[in-house]
Amino acid sequence: MELTRRSIIEPFKIKMVEPLHLHSLEAREKFLKDAGYNLFLVPSQGVTFDFLTDSGTTAMSANQWGAMMVADESYAGSRSFQKFEAAVGEVTGYNYVIPTHQGRAAERLLFGLLVKPGDQVPSNNHFDTTRANIEQIGAQAVDLVIPEGRDPKSRHPFKGNIDLELLEEFCKKHRARIPIGMLTITNNTGGGQPVSFENIRGAAAIYRKYNIPFILDACRFAENAAFIRNRERGMSERSIRSIAREVFDTADGCMMSAKKDGMVNIGGFIALKKQDWVTDLRNNLILTEGFPTYGGLAARDLEALAVGLFEALNEDYLEYRLAVAKYMGDGLTDLGIPIVQPPGGHAVYIDAKAFLPHIPPSQFPGQALVVELYRREGVRSCEIGSVMFGRTESEKFVPAAMELVRLAFPRRVYTQSHFDYLLEGFELLAKEKQKCRGLQMTYSPPFLRHFTAQFKPANRRAVERKWVACAPEKSN
Ligand SMILES: *Cc1c(COP(=O)(O)O)cnc(C)c1O
Repeated sequence: MELTRRSIIEPFKIKMVEPLHLHSLEAREKFLKDAGYNLFLVPSQGVTFDFLTDSGTTAMSANQWGAMMVADESYAGSRSFQKFEAAVGEVTGYNYVIPTHQGRAAERLLFGLLVKPGDQVPSNNHFDTTRANIEQIGAQAVDLVIPEGRDPKSRHPFKGNIDLELLEEFCKKHRARIPIGMLTITNNTGGGQPVSFENIRGAAAIYRKYNIPFILDACRFAENAAFIRNRERGMSERSIRSIAREVFDTADGCMMSAKKDGMVNIGGFIALKKQDWVTDLRNNLILTEGFPTYGGLAARDLEALAVGLFEALNEDYLEYRLAVAKYMGDGLTDLGIPIVQPPGGHAVYIDAKAFLPHIPPSQFPGQALVVELYRREGVRSCEIGSVMFGRTESEKFVPAAMELVRLAFPRRVYTQSHFDYLLEGFELLAKEKQKCRGLQMTYSPPFLRHFTAQFKPANRRAVERKWVACAPEKSN
């Protein structure tokens, strides 16, 4: 395919469709009001373009649906498990495959076996469920991403890289307390920033030197391999599949949420080179997930995954996939809407603090933008700012370091005309951004408040208020 064209060619044709939910402005305003201006509380029928997450939202292919029909739902030793095991083995090169119902179940099993209170687990950045599963054991999840990875303006081609000097120092100092070392590919933080092959190899060498097992969090291994092919010296002639395989070769195993590059709506697994932990993992799997040949999934899910892993590595698909975030990122940038640069593999982050400087952090500029994107365009996005991370200390509001809005793109779901349509709408929004109003929190639950918090438009002259102790405005 030519890279010079403006149009993305979706490398599929559509044989099953689902209507978009189109609503009037008034209808969306009602949805917003009823949801307390929290998009997690808007029913999906109210949403036209759902960019809340790329997790489990993939459109499956005819081949995947076909495979599901011939699944063998035997409790033990099903033929579908054998297909799944062979597919994971072929893609990763790992010998031992343990299915789980999704990524966090894999995390809980592996950490439950290996991590003890007081331990430390280094990575570039831990995903939030990964961190939570480490911390609930009483261990520490340590982020060692390169400084460029924390700088929204840096255009480093591999912003997901781990800082190898820091890692070496860290391993030397804490060796006895590090049960495993990790890397997240792509690094979810920043929208799926890639990790270079050189960096992965460097991290593997350090872990090996200190005799620390190396486990990849491989949710987006195919997108990461495509970035390596496109951006890393000496890689442009390689097949993406062989790059992915070589990445897996550097590690001792992986955990994977198949809801990402597994191209399925549910599923996950642990895969390992060596047998050491396998018996214990399988015994624990039986306790909570199910027998080792289905691990909390239906056989038809295993079938879909066995097909999806290869579809995720298809070169035409990956060219289209990485073009989506880039197209939206470039489009927003051209409209003067600031984003975290460069766009990652699965999402674009808008810098709401820079875009809406007239809204103070205490009035949640990220959430204000989330609300405005929905009100105008029916877009559902996710605030990653002071609603999620802000807090109150001695009655003073402490904002998050950044006020970001994430647009995450489901795989194979929306087309370029959808994105063009939205960019037209965003152009008008950029012109009228002064009309965007801040919000006031009227209800805040004690933890994970972004899921259920309630808001109302801020009084134009509102001074900072104490909102934490407020009662819910409505009871639903
Ligand atoms: C989604 C994700 C997980 C957790 O997987 P679930 O399937 O949501 O439980 C872990 N790590 C990364 C990097 C992820 O993106």
